[in-house]
Amino acid sequence: MPRPIEALIHVQALTHNLARARACAPDAKIWAVVKANAYGHGIANAYEGLRAADGFALLDLDEAQQIRSLGWRGPILLLEGCFETRDLELCSRLKLWHAVHCEQQIDWLAMHKTHEPHRVFLKLNSGMNRLGFSPQSFRAAWTRLNALPQVDEISLMTHFSDADALRFGSDGIASQLALFEAATAELPGETTLSNSAATLRHSSRLRSDWIRAGIMSYGGVPDFPEHDPAHWDLRPAMTLRSKIIGVQQLQAGDSVGYGSSFTAEQAMRIGVVACGYADGYPRHCATGTPVLVDGQRTRTVGRVSMDMLAVDLTTLKSSGFGSEVTLWGQGPKGSLLPIDEVARAAGTIGYELMCALARRVPVTVQHPVS
Ligand SMILES: *Cc1c(COP(=O)(O)O)cnc(C)c1O
Repeated sequence: MPRPIEALIHVQALTHNLARARACAPDAKIWAVVKANAYGHGIANAYEGLRAADGFALLDLDEAQQIRSLGWRGPILLLEGCFETRDLELCSRLKLWHAVHCEQQIDWLAMHKTHEPHRVFLKLNSGMNRLGFSPQSFRAAWTRLNALPQVDEISLMTHFSDADALRFGSDGIASQLALFEAATAELPGETTLSNSAATLRHSSRLRSDWIRAGIMSYGGVPDFPEHDPAHWDLRPAMTLRSKIIGVQQLQAGDSVGYGSSFTAEQAMRIGVVACGYADGYPRHCATGTPVLVDGQRTRTVGRVSMDMLAVDLTTLKSSGFGSEVTLWGQGPKGSLLPIDEVARAAGTIGYELMCALARRVPVTVQHPVS
């Protein structure tokens, strides 16, 4: 029998979350963002639940190829554009739309021989200072692109750095939105601005042709703990679950795991779970991280090791050897453990945990029961 750990990908949750994105921005088209192997879910696993999107946005050319080979004929957007000149050949062949964020990418386009004019998304750096043209150079870049026979259509794009919170005495988007509006005033073309946080928090103020739904598609919350998945009506698309493979009875003074970082203050019963940091469960989770055993909430105790971690069973009398453990996601009998809670205990965000699901964990796609 294989080790009992597994990940489940819930098609119905993906479908539901995508519908939530549509409800937030009913007039916009939706990019389902599937970079980083669909945030760790697997491109092919996520595809079925996300195919109601209007397009797929990603970074890696091989992921774009994967989406095409799954039969997707609609739009695909390379969010970082091309990394070298020959990437443009694949863009022409697979009809990929691509971001243009710097002069070098325009140079490559100008030298590219193609009969297939490209659709490009010209990116404005509105303050994030990662990728994009400055507000001063944006129009010149647009004019340069517009003169190229290789370019068919130019869309306009930017990315918010603070859409998930109030910051610098503002709602987190005001200054970047004003810069975008000024830089693109009177330029034709479709626009795309919002990530999940902007879609959930600011849709009433943002008009754009395309939104870019990443984390929310997977049921992760961009502004946790201010809001939780129930607040935004999002459902976890990934469950990580395993079983209790050992039980120990502790007396006061006994400790658990490497470094004896946890010591029992009174008699207690613990379960040892077949899940460790080599499965993608964060080692940074200290004693007290929430976990579900048979759908009931309890806590981890002691250090997470490579293949195992321990949970407190003291109050869970009917649980023990063989009990089902939900590390995050959907548990039995409708129970839920948001990945955001586990991430917070590890000092990180749900995004990182999803993306870090280890290759050794078998993944099963759960289809809706009809
Ligand atoms: C990853 C990414 C997104 C999606 O962000 P979420 O917070 O996951 O919704 C949107 N736009 C760009 C440019 C990205 O790189």
